[in-house]
Amino acid sequence: MSGVRTRFAPSPTGALHVGGVRTALFSWLFARHHGGAFVRRIEDTDRERSRPEWEAGIIEALRWLGLDWNEGPFRQSEREPFYATQVERLRQAGAVYPCTCSAEELAARRGDGFGYDRRCRPGHGPGPNPDRAAALRLKIPLGRTVVIDDLVKGPVAVSTDDIDDFVIVRSDGTPTYQMVVTADDIDMRITHVIRGDDHLKNTAKQILIYEALAATPPAFAHLPQVLGADRGRLSKRHGATDVLSYRDAGYLPDALVNFMARLGWAHGDDEFLTRSQLVELFDLAGVGRSAGVFDREKLDWLNGEHLRRLADPEIATLLRDFLARRGETLEGDPAWQARLAGVLRDRARTLEELAEQSIALRTASIHIDPKAAQRCLSPEIVAPLRQLQSALQRCGEWRAAELETTVRATADALGLKLGALAQPLRVALTGSTASPGIFDVLELVGRERSAARIDHALAVAAGGPP
Ligand code: GLU
Repeated sequence: MSGVRTRFAPSPTGALHVGGVRTALFSWLFARHHGGAFVRRIEDTDRERSRPEWEAGIIEALRWLGLDWNEGPFRQSEREPFYATQVERLRQAGAVYPCTCSAEELAARRGDGFGYDRRCRPGHGPGPNPDRAAALRLKIPLGRTVVIDDLVKGPVAVSTDDIDDFVIVRSDGTPTYQMVVTADDIDMRITHVIRGDDHLKNTAKQILIYEALAATPPAFAHLPQVLGADRGRLSKRHGATDVLSYRDAGYLPDALVNFMARLGWAHGDDEFLTRSQLVELFDLAGVGRSAGVFDREKLDWLNGEHLRRLADPEIATLLRDFLARRGETLEGDPAWQARLAGVLRDRARTLEELAEQSIALRTASIHIDPKAAQRCLSPEIVAPLRQLQSALQRCGEWRAAELETTVRATADALGLKLGALAQPLRVALTGSTASPGIFDVLELVGRERSAARIDHALAVAAGGPP
């Protein structure tokens, strides 16, 4: 293993959304590309909002996407004694000071002005009130510039005069996000912090904590945000943002991984990339400065491309699992299921579309669309369709090729064009005027079901209800 160590540090306060998982993916790809380690850390210090079920959902999403980790999960809620030792180090170094200003006092004094007025900082004001529980604030070294050498954005300079003496430990004794993240990144020997650029404002603060703990900061890479098609930050109003809802809508993990990698990262004009190609090619130099735009059409297209690379039995297995999650069973033996996948594979971009398009082929009964019935099942078709039905029942091998010969011969014998017979047959078998090739449909629907469906169509053609 190389020395590269990245981490994904979600807060279990909601479902893993597309922006969050893109962060996880880039950290994972970077670690895998360099043969390094990917660490998973659960940032559950917000006790009120953190829930085990959100954590379980995040893990399920990472597993589904195949973003495996080498270490963890570490849970911040289980590491409090460690944070206490790090706070103690800061105290010993004289890098922090107690503050007893209440939230109301701070708000009243702040007005519209800059954060904390440093009233409790030694040498700056009256100091803390000894009768109150104290928070701890970091003593920001004033008059300096912190430079973040960001691997995506380039150097970002921040004046320490613009940084609040922020809170490191709350007055109830709990350490804050800035403290625990920095302490953990040091302890877990993280070499590259890759995260959304909404964290950029935290980075200068965290660099000051590294300094106070006499630790070397890692490299930072802040990723541009993911935007919706309207260029607003991707959110619920753009449709599903929860990653597992893409699984439930029939997308493949490899397609979503490919799609998300392209949200802010590029390798020339390449769009379709397999997981192993991504691992081979991924590089932070390919991360652009502008936001990635979520384009659902592109996701659908990519999903279709990934689906088509799979063998029929693999597609059949995916369809079976997809239906199972919806509480439906895919009938038939594995050979029949693979044949079904083979017939439909080029017509669908997602498993949902595959499920949709295969309904007539995989379910016991169908519903005849009244418009299709009106168009194709007229009384004149009764005699030809009946003749076709008996010819089909005499067919030896119930296979597309033999069935084709039979249908063509029957049409010839009746002096009909193939379409004049095939189209009513299609409506009889699928209930609709559009379907995969009719001979494949016949084969898949099977001898008995075909006979029963043609019986029903004959009744409809003779004036019965569809
Ligand atoms: N827990 C933070 C979040 O979910 C991430 C912190 C970090 O990456 O430093 O936004």
